[in-house]
Amino acid sequence: MNQFRPGFFRHAAIAVILFGSVVGCKQLGAPGGNSPTGGSSGGSAGSGGPGGSPGGVSGGTTQNNAGNPDTGGNTVGPGGITSAGGQGGINQGGINQGGITTVGGAGGTTSGGGGITVVGGNGGTILVGGATSAAGSNSPGGTAGGATGAGGSKSPGGTTSAGGSAGSSSAGGSTVAKSACSSPPPADPQMPGYPADQHTKFQTQATTTLANLSLAEKAQQMRGTDPGPSTSRNWTDTFRQPDNTAKGIKGFTFRDGPRGVNLDAPIQATNTVHGKSTVFPVAMARGAAWDVNLEYQIGQALGDEMVAASQTMLLAPTVNLLRHPLWGRAQETYGEDPYQLGRLGTAIVAGVQTYVPACVKHYAANNIENLRATKNASMDEQTLREIYARHFEMIVKDGGVACVMAAYNLVNGTNCTQNAHLLTDILRTDFGFNGFVMSDWWAMPGGNGSTPSATLAAQAIAAGLDMELPWNFNFNAIETSVGSSITQTQVDTAVKRILEQKYRFGVDKGNGLKAASTGFSGGSITGNSAHVTLAQTAAQESMVLLKNDNNALPIKSTFTKIAVVGLTQSYCAPVNSSGVATGPGINNCADDINNGTINFATGIRVGDVGSSRVNFSSSDAVGPFAGIQAAAGSGVTVTSGSTAASAQGADFIVVVAGLTPYDEGEEYNGSGDRTTFALDGKMNSGTQNALITAVAALGKPMVVVLEGGSVIDMPWLSSLPAASAVVMAWYPGMKGGAALGQLLFGKANFSGKLPISWPKQLSDLPTFNGGATTTMDYYVGYRYFDNKSITPLFPFGFGLSYTQFTYSNLVVPCGTASQSAVVNVSVDVTNSGTVAGDEVVLLFVSYPGTAKKRPAKELKGFARVTIAAGAKQTVTIPVRVSDLSYWDSTSSKWAIEASTVKVMVGPSSANLPLSDTFTVTSTP
Ligand code: BGC
Repeated sequence: MNQFRPGFFRHAAIAVILFGSVVGCKQLGAPGGNSPTGGSSGGSAGSGGPGGSPGGVSGGTTQNNAGNPDTGGNTVGPGGITSAGGQGGINQGGINQGGITTVGGAGGTTSGGGGITVVGGNGGTILVGGATSAAGSNSPGGTAGGATGAGGSKSPGGTTSAGGSAGSSSAGGSTVAKSACSSPPPADPQMPGYPADQHTKFQTQATTTLANLSLAEKAQQMRGTDPGPSTSRNWTDTFRQPDNTAKGIKGFTFRDGPRGVNLDAPIQATNTVHGKSTVFPVAMARGAAWDVNLEYQIGQALGDEMVAASQTMLLAPTVNLLRHPLWGRAQETYGEDPYQLGRLGTAIVAGVQTYVPACVKHYAANNIENLRATKNASMDEQTLREIYARHFEMIVKDGGVACVMAAYNLVNGTNCTQNAHLLTDILRTDFGFNGFVMSDWWAMPGGNGSTPSATLAAQAIAAGLDMELPWNFNFNAIETSVGSSITQTQVDTAVKRILEQKYRFGVDKGNGLKAASTGFSGGSITGNSAHVTLAQTAAQESMVLLKNDNNALPIKSTFTKIAVVGLTQSYCAPVNSSGVATGPGINNCADDINNGTINFATGIRVGDVGSSRVNFSSSDAVGPFAGIQAAAGSGVTVTSGSTAASAQGADFIVVVAGLTPYDEGEEYNGSGDRTTFALDGKMNSGTQNALITAVAALGKPMVVVLEGGSVIDMPWLSSLPAASAVVMAWYPGMKGGAALGQLLFGKANFSGKLPISWPKQLSDLPTFNGGATTTMDYYVGYRYFDNKSITPLFPFGFGLSYTQFTYSNLVVPCGTASQSAVVNVSVDVTNSGTVAGDEVVLLFVSYPGTAKKRPAKELKGFARVTIAAGAKQTVTIPVRVSDLSYWDSTSSKWAIEASTVKVMVGPSSANLPLSDTFTVTSTP
């Protein structure tokens, strides 16, 4: 197995970049060994857990195989404090990971003489009461608990506690003395925020300019292009602001993301359209990669291509929480969890903004596509703050995003563009946002078909909307309304915010912060081979292996005939002479790089044909058939076809199936939301499922590769042949086929994990679209499944690998942590298989003592790490205590409970074998 991700940051390095060195509580002892090094009296032996049996169950079902609880070793310290051993032998190897075995479990809780409670890691981490610990023994987990634990450590404070624990093998480790975590994290380039000194500097520059602008010039900063007469609207020049040539201030030029820079939409300055650029996997795929560093690099690549194309504001990322997988724009966002959205959104923004400003969208609760301009999202304040707005807060505070796009929909009865609670109370007062707010395209009430309204303009500006796009429409009333319904101060405030961001990124002159490494010719990006390679890396990291019965994958080297099978489907609407659709399909096929037809076996899948569409250069793009052929090597024949019969002579069959741009996408082209999780839910009913079933009937080893933005029903799942696999490839972008080939042949390892909970059936979820008003629940995704005690088909974080990972030695280094502290939780992850692989480690917390409305658990950290076969790595995941806050509806304030926090770590939301606690104090 190759180390297929050269240059990948080892996780430890990432942790340092994220939060710098561990603070306050970093008192890791010297690596321990088997021999006690100090304890005046070692405690009685702790017996590590027996470990559990490998939990892998075949069949792709979710299962928790709890190992037999074992009595962890009781540890008695001379301080007289006895603590019961933890649950040795918790094993949650289930989840069909081919047998993730968690050894040991929590090895024993010991209270040290200093009164600090410390929880042992697997096999019993040694705990001491004093501030300093000496080395002691540590076992990676008892595969056969029972050997006498050695160890013992001494604290200079005089209290000695002991406890070494045992396992049949001990592999050294560290001894931890717990103290209080207190300090905030140091600066991190991938979480740059928007420093106050920068804000002051560029605001001052903006204020100076403002003094020399007329009211009309000010108003021009606050809107887009001329709409043209009502009889003949301007539909093409809708991605820029006019320049102020007299004062030398360029208007913004806008481009959509986030799967790449959309150069398909017309560019006025170059008079080009249908241009090409790098097409990355869609954001949902990158959510499955869980790779903050990758997302930062993709951000840099987008920024680079923006500068190359002389574009100055990227309309990305999309971070609407996936409340329900039927959402037509599911593919554009990263998943169902606010923390994950906040971290990945921050990373891409930080990357983009090393070149040009980014605009995070769509604020807020834009979770239904059909009739989006009229949809009201109703929710209580806690739900709004914690679930639908929190990731925007992270992207504002950690990412320092320049711009926020107000969404089409209404929240609690008021359009987002007119919503003072969203745009001022929350965004400005609570988040401290110092950028500017633009409207989504024609998102002010009435859209583009109405008569411009001075009243609406005044209302929006008072609410906090700084810029109306894409036209100078309602905001055309600014000049005549100042002094009556709009104040001069309101206009000055908005213009200052806009100018400030232009100066911050040097785009007042149209340049951006850095020169591009790529070029631009004939409307397309050139010289982007490094970005194309990055697109392949992203696809490789994001594909999720959902099932791999009898090791169907990797494809065996003895197989010499491989068939790649998929249907060909068209999804263009028939249109009449006036261009009006007269049947099902999308109505903007001229914008589609695939020309309205997909051959699933050979086609390059990049996603919908909405505003985030991006075109690839055919010479650089690789579909499934070509990618598999390239990876197969000599001596292997790869054929493509569209029927089971065409695969009859093959040793191994790859069926590629999925959704089309008509099944899911942005509403304006006729696609919109899904109505079912079925393949072919809108046209060609049943055809792809019939093909898969027919191929399965051949009884040959096979894999079904699914392409789509979210959940797809698999009615054939339990009737596939004994050796069969399923891969969720998402829309993997221009190099998706190359990534797929590498993965299927084992030249790379699967590592993607679901960023969404995958239900068994639609009826397991809440109502998607409640009509005019939809109630948005507090419990979304895994929070919902937990709350309703429903087991999903595949849990959040699920994904198989060609290797197995073992979790051990969880260390929560602090007994107590202040409200501003960072708790650097660490865990050892061992690659116990025979090939290298990446593992995504998830960290959840729960609040065992809470009397408040809080989820059963919530994600508060994750890390991706590359581990060679047989190697072990310590993964550090920083947990910011401030991230544990909740919205207290009684006091209408954020609050952090001064109470116990349980930290749970493992490979998925349903498999968190290691846990420990710390206590949050009331100290700020
Ligand atoms: C979409 C936005 C997009 C804008 C400009 C709207 O239809 O909702 O995401 O940025 O168009 O293309």
